Amino acid sequence: MGVIYMDYNATTPADPRVVEAMLPYFTERFGNPSSPYGLAHKSRAAVERAREQMASGLGCRSSEVVFTSGGSESDNSAIKGVAFAHLPERGHIITSAIEHHAVLLTCEYLEKEFGFSVTYLPVDADGLVDAKDVRRAVRDDTWLISVMYVNNEVGTIQPLKEIADIAREHGITFHTDAVQAIGKIPVDVDALGVDLLSLSAHKLYGPKGVGALYVRAGTRMHPLVHGGSHERGMRAGTENVPGIVGLGKAVELAVDEMEIETARLTPLRDRLEKTLLSEISGVALNGHREKRIPSTANLSFLFVEGESIVLSLDMEGVAVSTGSACTTDAAGPSHVLAAMGIKPNVAQGSVRFGLGRHTREADVDRVLSLMPGIVERLRAISPLRDRA
Ligand SMILES: *Cc1c(COP(=O)(O)O)cnc(C)c1O
Repeated sequence: MGVIYMDYNATTPADPRVVEAMLPYFTERFGNPSSPYGLAHKSRAAVERAREQMASGLGCRSSEVVFTSGGSESDNSAIKGVAFAHLPERGHIITSAIEHHAVLLTCEYLEKEFGFSVTYLPVDADGLVDAKDVRRAVRDDTWLISVMYVNNEVGTIQPLKEIADIAREHGITFHTDAVQAIGKIPVDVDALGVDLLSLSAHKLYGPKGVGALYVRAGTRMHPLVHGGSHERGMRAGTENVPGIVGLGKAVELAVDEMEIETARLTPLRDRLEKTLLSEISGVALNGHREKRIPSTANLSFLFVEGESIVLSLDMEGVAVSTGSACTTDAAGPSHVLAAMGIKPNVAQGSVRFGLGRHTREADVDRVLSLMPGIVERLRAISPLRDRA
């Protein structure tokens, strides 16, 4: 029996249509897009075609798309890029406590090493930022607001438009990490009112190691990577042509198939969640019930460690995770659940089920058939029981 994969928030398998589009650019179409002959022009044309696909997916101009090495680089480029453009005067950045570490640690770095001040906005019990808190945090020297569109651990969707209106009113650049949003909810840079937007190919059925940053024309920022004049001087380095071709195709497919996938996955996710909540005692849902993407269920199983559930499911050939894949090595409970005010003993029992393009009814059935026994077994031997 193959592995049942339910960790689509961590990464996704590349779609075969994406791989097919990429393949020629590893071999016969290997030219450097900056070289002066026909072979190279084919690579250049492929990069620019991908840029058009991105632009139509995001509702922007193709000249506003900068290709990067992924979501982390896009987040770093956006935040350091704006901060470094304000280096002489330093100043203030507003972000939230539940951001991905690519945003949080970048802000902490700017704070510690360069003397910027940063406000880390709180979230409510559902994981939502309150736009009123954003307004209260704004200072005369606030240059940047960075709030993610969709949280990777609990799937909650932030009120971006409300925050964007505040940013616009004060002339503040607004960045969003939309890595978990593309293909799941509509992403249109003008409708959202964002100036900078990060995305990553491997979260949307494209290859790993490639992503993009949308940069609204006129945004004041510095490049992160210096060198050649690639990407209009915004990101030096010979383009990852196959990766970029894959990203363009992946975005096109994700946007085309979003509605169908949402209609298909929502009932699957709801059934998984409802059944776990009703058939196992001591289970709590983490995240907002409505304002979230259709593919994520984050549940806490009291008196057990989420990590033990993950290992037990793995032995049965089911791949899920506790919260963020990027922090599984780090000790301590999730910073996202902590910011939501979830007590450590509840947070440590959390498991994230991430559904996606290959999830079928039978996969949900299998997980539902395994979970009650696993939780019961773990609880029988759990030392946490007595401490609760
Ligand atoms: C995965 C992820 C990132 C990092 O993207 P990479 O391409 O893996 O660097 C950033 N933000 C969020 C919300 C993510 O889920």
